[in-house]
Amino acid sequence: MKLSAKSKAYMIPEYSLTGDLLSFLTCNLQYRYQNKGTLPPSMPIQLWFGEFIHGIMEEAYNKWISEKLEFPWDWKSQIRPIEDMIDLRLQVRGLYPPTTQFYSTVNEKDVEITDEHERIASGRAKTAINTWGKHLFPLIDSAEVLIKGIRNMPSYDEDKSRSNYYGINGVIDVLSSININEIQNDSKSNNEIINYLKANEGFNKRIKSLKGEEYEIIIDYKGMKRPTYGSDNWNHHEWQILTYSWLRSKQADSKTIVAGIIFYLNELVPSYEDLKSIQEDVKNGNNDVPISSNDYELITNWKDKKKYPDLSDKFKMDRSIRIINIDKKTINESLDKFDAVVEDIEESLIKETNGCKIKDAWKAEADERTCLACDFKTFCNNKHSKTKEIKIP
Ligand code: SF4
Repeated sequence: MKLSAKSKAYMIPEYSLTGDLLSFLTCNLQYRYQNKGTLPPSMPIQLWFGEFIHGIMEEAYNKWISEKLEFPWDWKSQIRPIEDMIDLRLQVRGLYPPTTQFYSTVNEKDVEITDEHERIASGRAKTAINTWGKHLFPLIDSAEVLIKGIRNMPSYDEDKSRSNYYGINGVIDVLSSININEIQNDSKSNNEIINYLKANEGFNKRIKSLKGEEYEIIIDYKGMKRPTYGSDNWNHHEWQILTYSWLRSKQADSKTIVAGIIFYLNELVPSYEDLKSIQEDVKNGNNDVPISSNDYELITNWKDKKKYPDLSDKFKMDRSIRIINIDKKTINESLDKFDAVVEDIEESLIKETNGCKIKDAWKAEADERTCLACDFKTFCNNKHSKTKEIKIP
């Protein structure tokens, strides 16, 4: 009797939109070391703050649901307990807060917290809740929505490719339901998010082209400053929301998505580095939100490292919210872009599997700020990795 050979294991590579695709786009080589190797970053400030602020917003929403607290919330009595819970949760996962950013009491049980302990991460948590939480929480339909999809493997080659499909997944921070009729009948809403949407030309055009009443908005928080207008990051964030929108549309309970919103929460309480970068954007004409002459003078003339410019709340709010217009054409374009990213990752992986050295299989290319905060700069050949140290407050 002839025994048939066991068929080859069928495996579909799975890619996370933020953890793989955006991370690969930040730097191919750093992605390889961090995501495909066993080397976690030693002090991932941005990763810590990103996780921290997501946890804060989620738990603040749960608290708002159960206690219906009025805004503004007091930092010490109402927000700090949430921070302690998130800090502990992150430390269990090995994510320790940078001491300059956050005062942790995980190992200091008897400390009495005072306003003196409010460092920059706490300042951002407080301002994010009190600025956006009060407008956002009433609009939330569901939080942390897992979305998954499957796509054809780009440039599939039976002999070389790992699979003829790849999986793509992501987590939508917040899904919000809106009723267009209610919005249109309300000339000036008490909800600032609705007012920002109504003032957006692309959003108005989109709702005019649709017939239904109930729609969805995809919302994403980012623990970073608004990217420079037109930069790679600027585009990547837009692709992310558009791809989320495609993935969400495949779910049975989805409604038509009318817009995406990204909140850049560092803009509310910017660090020194954030301010330097905002200053550069304004000076170079890469600030895409309205700026008053007073804010313009303050930011462009600012030199004193110890005294930050007192920018208006309006400017900070404008910069911290970004509306992404959704339409079929841009969705398809973003899917094509991410297909191309998957193709590049697969190509690097295959090169490495075939014996190519890691540094030759994965490109070492990133912007200066990424390189200076990178753990692999000591043995990376990129020129940015050899420049002076940067201080991240
Ligand atoms: S130093 Fe820069 S180019 Fe090199 S791996 Fe790190 S981020 Fe990439």
